[in-house]
Amino acid sequence: MKLLFCYQCRDMVELQHEMRKCRCGHAFGKYLRNGLNAVYGGSARIIGIANQDIQDALNDGSHSTLRCWMMIDKNAPHIQWVKSIELAEVVENFVDKE
Ligand SMILES: [Zn+2]
Repeated sequence: MKLLFCYQCRDMVELQHEMRKCRCGHAFGKYLRNGLNAVYGGSARIIGIANQDIQDALNDGSHSTLRCWMMIDKNAPHIQWVKSIELAEVVENFVDKE
């Protein structure tokens, strides 16, 4: 799971296939069609949460530790930062650096 974190308003929103923005509107992003890569921009960084940890926590039914990480580099494996929301709307593929 990827979360869009805005370092201006500190809002976090889950990325979806449709474009989403933070509360202040300075960060935006969405998943691409393949459901793995994401494009985003503005005053944002991406936070990843291990999907298996979420499932394990739901199965356990108790407090659990989740592994998560902030992608400090704007362009990391599976994510690409773009200058404007207009560019983000038209990106449907990019060369992954993985
Ligand atoms: Zn914001």
